[in-house]
Amino acid sequence: MTPSLLQQATVHLKRALPLLFKYRIPPTPTNYALWYTYVSEQNEQLNAQLEEALAHYHTCPPSIAALLYQQHIQEPGQLDVLQLRQNMEAMADELSLSLKDTRTGAAEFRHKLEGHLNNLSLLKQPNLSLEQMLAMVKMLVQNSEEIIDSTQYFSQQLNKAQLEIESLRQRLSSAERDVMYDALTGCLNRRAFNLDIAALLQSAPSGCCLILADIDHFKDVNDTYGHVLGDQVLKAVAKRMQAHCRDGSKLYRFGGEEFAVLVPDSQQPIARQLADAMRRSLEKISVRDRQQNLNVGNISASFGVCEWHPHEPPASLIERTDKRLYEAKRLGRNRVIPINGAR
Ligand code: GH3
Ligand code: MG
Ligand code: MG
Repeated sequence: MTPSLLQQATVHLKRALPLLFKYRIPPTPTNYALWYTYVSEQNEQLNAQLEEALAHYHTCPPSIAALLYQQHIQEPGQLDVLQLRQNMEAMADELSLSLKDTRTGAAEFRHKLEGHLNNLSLLKQPNLSLEQMLAMVKMLVQNSEEIIDSTQYFSQQLNKAQLEIESLRQRLSSAERDVMYDALTGCLNRRAFNLDIAALLQSAPSGCCLILADIDHFKDVNDTYGHVLGDQVLKAVAKRMQAHCRDGSKLYRFGGEEFAVLVPDSQQPIARQLADAMRRSLEKISVRDRQQNLNVGNISASFGVCEWHPHEPPASLIERTDKRLYEAKRLGRNRVIPINGAR
């Protein structure tokens, strides 16, 4: 690797790593390649899309990261894998060097401060009152502790990053392509949902809502018209729901005939409105059965909507939303719970 390439890789590393920490992005090969490309400003479109994700979610959800990677980086010619590997190696070397610097720096700093504190405690100044002296010592101790804490924290973070990069380097050669999409409906799958909800709820300062939907009496559709037509109905439902997903809302196939929607930056009334618009549009579905020469209509679904409580784990939000979905079924299906205006 030429020195200029190495220098460049190092510069990018120094800009990319703090962003990974800031947005709590796991340092996987995909993410590293993505953020490396982002800070190196090679691809305007990628940068714009990534910034849009950050604006919506305050992080880059794993499913979007995978998509951006596929769109912009995995394309042959977009990023030379060999170059990436070389950069990664240069980065790991540079990181271990700067890590040593930081450690030495922190230790020296602590040593000096401790020396100052010792001297101070030995000082006998007649002009200083005992209170003044104590206040001074207290302040110094407090300051030094703060600085030592933050230096240690930084050093720990670097240490962690280095270990992760080390394992990335080993994994890069056998990097597997993440499968985030459902084959039948083309929407994001349960795996993407699990990853996205965990990432989103870690940093959702302006709220987040979950919608769960379950097609009503879907077993009857299968029993009456067959599984193949059932599949067509599932596709039509996904397509309709997808058409309503704007402003960062994302649709996932949650299970067999169940769908989930994550609505970022939202409160319950907004998400409820979205669910109800989806519900109404599903009522209009009509799928043609060519064999029997008839149209399958009367499709409906029941919805549960919940607003996330700060610090609530994903499993609890899912459970609360599922209870509301169950309530919608119990009350007669084809409805959204909570009802309009209720909390
Ligand atoms: P409810 O209104 O209570 O939700 O009734 P339901 O019949 O929709 O619920 P139930 O859980 O009894 O049945 C769900 C059905 O969904 C059973 C299963 O065969 C069908 N299903 C799940 N995944 C698929 C799929 O990929 N394709 C098709 N065609 N059917 C599926
Ligand atoms: Mg179900
Ligand atoms: Mg059902």
